[in-house]
Order: sequence, then structure tokens, then C-alpha cells
Amino acid sequence: MHYDVIVVGGGPSGLMACIAASSRGARVLLIDKGDKLGRKLGISGGGRCNVTNNKETEELIKHIPGNGRFLYSAFAHFNNQDIIRFFEDMGIKLKEEDRGRMFPVSDKAKTVVEALIGRARGQGVQMRVNSPVQRVLYEEGRTAGVRLQSGESVHAACVIVATGGKSVPHTGSTGDGYPWAEEAGHTITELYPTEVPLVSREAFIQSKELQGLSLRDITVSVWNAKGKKVVQHEGDLIFTHFGISGPTALRCSQFVVKLKKQFEVPTVKLTIDLFPERSTDELYDETMKLAEQEPKKAIKNVLKGFLQERMIPILLKKAGLREDTTYDNIPKQPWMQLAALLKAFPIQIADTLSIEEAFVTGGGVHLKEIDPKTMMSKRMDGLFFCGEILDIHGYTGGYNITAAFTTGYTAGLHAAEAAIGQEVY
Ligand SMILES: Cc1cc2nc3c(=O)[nH]c(=O)nc-3n(C[C@H](O)[C@H](O)[C@H](O)COP(=O)(O)OP(=O)(O)OC[C@H]3O[C@@H](n4cnc5c(N)ncnc54)[C@H](O)[C@@H]3O)c2cc1C
Repeated sequence: MHYDVIVVGGGPSGLMACIAASSRGARVLLIDKGDKLGRKLGISGGGRCNVTNNKETEELIKHIPGNGRFLYSAFAHFNNQDIIRFFEDMGIKLKEEDRGRMFPVSDKAKTVVEALIGRARGQGVQMRVNSPVQRVLYEEGRTAGVRLQSGESVHAACVIVATGGKSVPHTGSTGDGYPWAEEAGHTITELYPTEVPLVSREAFIQSKELQGLSLRDITVSVWNAKGKKVVQHEGDLIFTHFGISGPTALRCSQFVVKLKKQFEVPTVKLTIDLFPERSTDELYDETMKLAEQEPKKAIKNVLKGFLQERMIPILLKKAGLREDTTYDNIPKQPWMQLAALLKAFPIQIADTLSIEEAFVTGGGVHLKEIDPKTMMSKRMDGLFFCGEILDIHGYTGGYNITAAFTTGYTAGLHAAEAAIGQEVY
């Protein structure tokens, strides 16, 4: 069998590339090394698959801080609204949750994976699983096909590399595509973990006294070594046995990685604003009033109900306040310090979890070497890239799968165009 396009990797980007290429009449072969396609997609969004985000294009780009601007052309072909239509046309109803996040109504990622595989199959895409690709073949300055680990070679005019990043390797994303890109003359920008939980060696973390505590609707700020705020994110956070996780921590993680490197510092300071809607002065007055209403009560009890109970001893200690202080003997300075801590509770971050434990891999195939209109390599004819292998990464919230779909669609369309009519080896 001769193929026009070989797609390596059956994640969201590869599956979408297959669908787009076959819709143009190309003979497409999808090769994956796993026994199942779409394994990472199947566990995405907590098993519900946050398939895209309903925000406007400008907002989407903003939420893809790792080179989102590269996606303008791809979004012109296939954007989040097209993704929504694509699934709804196949009878997969989607629903919008908070912050524009779109999920299948079934709440099952499996629905999304099966729909993609079914569509690709229905359009004649051939699929081979349990078939690890060892390398992409380049002959006479152009792409010629792939060699499988079994030693078998399969030829095609165009190859789309959709092997993903290096995160959560048991899903098959083990970074296999990077050396193939390098062999074609591509640069791989430094890989790093992003959307990854943060590690702290603060005493209150090591004592595990906050483990499992969730904070809702707070803001987290990241500070550089010069004391300048670099970024701020609002949302939820959870304390873990090693540090912090949850949406805001994940969003801050890439900045921690970058600041540690840039300033060569052992830790990066984060601060948590526990009451984003109130000022320090308001918090001072409000807590003081609470104490005044129950003047005989120890402040640690007065503050229950106002603050997460488990945070009270830590906050009081940091502010230099005794837990048994009552209204009559509240010292003004430490009380002001307490109000300030409620607005900016500091936590030094020493590290992130590893790239393997991250939700997303930062870095990848350098975008200067990729045509944003086609996803084709500027280094090797007939070679295309899509998905997380590219130096593109978004926040959690459906942005990474959106980037995978849009780049996959663009690559598939243009690989088909480039391949059809060309001699197949
Ligand atoms: C737990 C978790 C939850 C997530 N949830 C969300 C979410 O809800 N929303 C969101 O937008 N993003 C989410 N992400 C991120 C998102 O899943 C990824 O960005 C996306 O799957 C990347 O798609 P991809 O097609 O580039 O690669 P992948 O999905 O990583 O797929 C790569 C494929 O290539 C195959 N492959 C690799 N090497 C070879 C080889 N040598 N030969 C053959 N095949 C090979 C692999 O087997 C795999 O099937 C989540 C990530 C994780 C880890």
C-alpha cells in the first residue's frame, strides 16, 4: 500500500491531522506505538476531556503564553468554534463550564477519543498501533517515510510528526520526535515542565499541617528576585504534602521555572491573596471588629469562620500574635501585619515536579523553523509538525488540546495538498 501522508502519533493533534488530510482525499496511515490511540486525551480534564475553550481568539492566544501568537494563521483555518462545530456535527454535544471550558456533555473523554478515531476510520485512514516508529526517513533532501522499530520501512511523500512532549510518559509521550526533528536540521528549544505542581520547603509545608486544604477564589502572584511582580493568577489552589497544586499553582509554574533560571536563585517567592476583593485596611478593620464583638474570646477562635481554620495558627505566628490574645490586648503593629499577610501570604517555591509529572512540556521544535500557515518544516520538504512537540504551550483550561487540534488540522490539510500528485516512493 502506498500512502500520501504518514502521521506518527495518535494523540489529538495526530488524529485531527489524519481527519484533515483524509478529507482532502489523501491516503493516510496513522502509526502509534501504544496499544490504544488517544491515551493522554483519554485521561485529560480529569477523565472528562476539556476539549477546547469558548473564549474569543485574542483571549485564547493570551491563555497560550508559550508562543500562542504563532497560532493566528492556524486559528484562521480551524479555531475553537470550528472544534465545537466539528464535535457537534458528529453528534457529540459539548457544554460550557466556568472560564469558558468546554467538555462533552457525557463527561467522558472516551466519547471524544472514540469520535475522533471513528471519524478518521470512516474517512479511510489506515491505523497501526503497537508500532513504534524509530525514525523519519529523509532521502535526497526530502521526507521519504518512516522506519519502524521492527525494521520495516513505510514510504510516503509527507510525514506529520505528532508525537507530543515528554510529560506523563506512560501515555506514550516520551519525546521520541525531537531527535527526528534535529536530524532534519531543526532546533529544539530547551524543554521544561509547565502546568506542573510546585515544591516548597517552607516549615508549614514540611509539617504537612495544610495538606489537602483548598483555597477558593484567591489570587497568586509570582515575584522576581528584584521584588517585581511578574504575573498574577486568580482561581483555586490546593496545599499538598510537597507544596502547592491546583489551577493557580499550575499557571504560575512556568514563571517559577523561568525565574529560577534567569536569576539563578534557589527559590522563587509567591504570595497568596486570600481576600482579593478587599483591601488591607478593610481587612484590618473587619478583623478588629470581629474581635471587638467578642472581647473575651481568644483571637484564634474569633478568626474561625472568617479564615480557613488550619491557616490561623500559621498566620498568627507569622504576624507575631499569640493565639490567646484578646481584644483588650491586641497590639496594633502585629494586627496590621496580620491584615497584610491576608493580602500577601508568602510561600517560597524551591522547585517544580519533574517534566514527566507535568501536565505539559514547555519548549520544543523551534517555531522560526516552521511555516505557521502550513505547519511544514522550513528545513525539510514534506515534513510537518503539530501538537505539543512544537514550542507551544497553554494554561490548563482546554488551551493545549485546542493548540493540538488547530495545528493538527492545519498540518493535515497542507500535508495532503503537498503530497497529492507527488510521486510516492
Ligand atoms: C493528565 C493530563 C490532563 C490533561 N488535560 C488537559 C485538558 O483537559 N485540556 C487540555 O487542553 N489539555 C490537557 N492536557 C494536555 C494535553 O492532553 C496535551 O497537550 C495533548 O494531548 C498533546 O497532544 P499531542 O497530539 O501533541 O500529543 P499526545 O497526546 O502526547 O500524543 C502523542 C502520541 O504519539 C505517540 N508516539 C510517541 N512516540 C511515538 C513513536 N516513536 N512511534 C509511534 N507513536 C509515537 C504516543 O503513543 C501518543 O499516542 C492534559 C495533559 C495531561 C497529562
